[in-house]
Amino acid sequence: ASRFEGIAMAPPDPILGVSEAFRADTDEKKLNLGVGAYRTEELHPYVLKVVKKAEQLMLERGENKEYLPIEGLAAFNKATAELLLGADNPVIKESRIATVQGLSGTGSLRLAAALVERYFPGSKVLLSSPTWGNHKNIFNDAGVPWSEYRYYDPKTVGLDFEGMIADIKAAPDGSFILLHGCAHNPTGIDPTPEQWEKIADVIHEKNHIAFFDVAYQGFASGSLDEDASSVRLFAARGMELIVAQSYSKNLGLYAERIGAINVVCSSAEAASRVKSQLKRLARPMYSNPPVHGARVVANVVGDPALFGEWKAEMEMMAGRIKNVRQKLYDSLMAKDKSGKDWSFILKQIGMFSFTGLNKAQSDNMTNKWHVYMTKDGRISLAGLSLAKCEYLADAIMDSYH
Ligand code: PMP
Repeated sequence: ASRFEGIAMAPPDPILGVSEAFRADTDEKKLNLGVGAYRTEELHPYVLKVVKKAEQLMLERGENKEYLPIEGLAAFNKATAELLLGADNPVIKESRIATVQGLSGTGSLRLAAALVERYFPGSKVLLSSPTWGNHKNIFNDAGVPWSEYRYYDPKTVGLDFEGMIADIKAAPDGSFILLHGCAHNPTGIDPTPEQWEKIADVIHEKNHIAFFDVAYQGFASGSLDEDASSVRLFAARGMELIVAQSYSKNLGLYAERIGAINVVCSSAEAASRVKSQLKRLARPMYSNPPVHGARVVANVVGDPALFGEWKAEMEMMAGRIKNVRQKLYDSLMAKDKSGKDWSFILKQIGMFSFTGLNKAQSDNMTNKWHVYMTKDGRISLAGLSLAKCEYLADAIMDSYH
């Protein structure tokens, strides 16, 4: 008998499992709207031109494959903090930020969770309801207790702002409040600038710490600065923060696993101590991070011409998603004679749309229409083309009514 007999089969991942099921489907009409990855109008994966240029430069320079330091590539860490906060931000000028290169967004969140577990024992993290499914796994595995704050209101398919504020107020003082910097996943619903101010007020009053997950900077609005405005608003108030970043979406570096964890502190001394502890946590987990994606980011951000090209490509990608969003809305409005208001689709931002389809309806989308999506009713518009909007609208009509 196997010594591993006692190990049961694990359930498939609710998001990545959708891609596995998609691959197994042989129907020509099939559509994968599960995972959040950008596709062209022809539904092909897309490598940014600016990434290819940066890689060409790297090849010409003949860079070596020596280990990076535990904290990652210095040029990347500098660039990533500046992209997040703006190069002239006092936080950076005063060296009040501890930045460590992470294994993309997920690995950066995991490292921060380890910091919370070690130095804030018993402190709770509050997650939005709903949130990206992996947040719960990350904090569970790090041994950090979590609970949820209200966020999505199914009646309005909008933000339950009162509920959100009440739940943040009710959390034990000194909790960590996980916030999506922009393009909330899965709902696509973000607070307004006025609401962000109010959220910052309550977090400050309660002595909580804001913990931002920034996975879509530049990808939501097309502007890096606009998409970082929530984080910058908190930083401008002098608040201490944790911010995880990812370059999976905005630079299309999904498989390179490049991101960072930033801890904004109230003094340079605190920041250097925090950084030393982040390194101490990273060393026994993975020693040091991979170099390729870090060099790509550093080269793109560090070269004014490439930086400009990146911004143009980001606008192009964000623009394509907006066009698809509009076309899906138009198709639904044209087909739906029930008088239902689908305008919430236009109000949502980023890669996803939260359709309001329940589990049974989502199952119908997949089983009958070969449309693969997560069971919470989320569809990735980045995996949709203008040409497929009519088909998708037919599938939604059939499943909804
Ligand atoms: N946070 C959120 C909210 C996300 O949507 C994602 C990507 N799906 C991530 C973090 C992390 O992705 P990655 O590890 O590829 O950077």
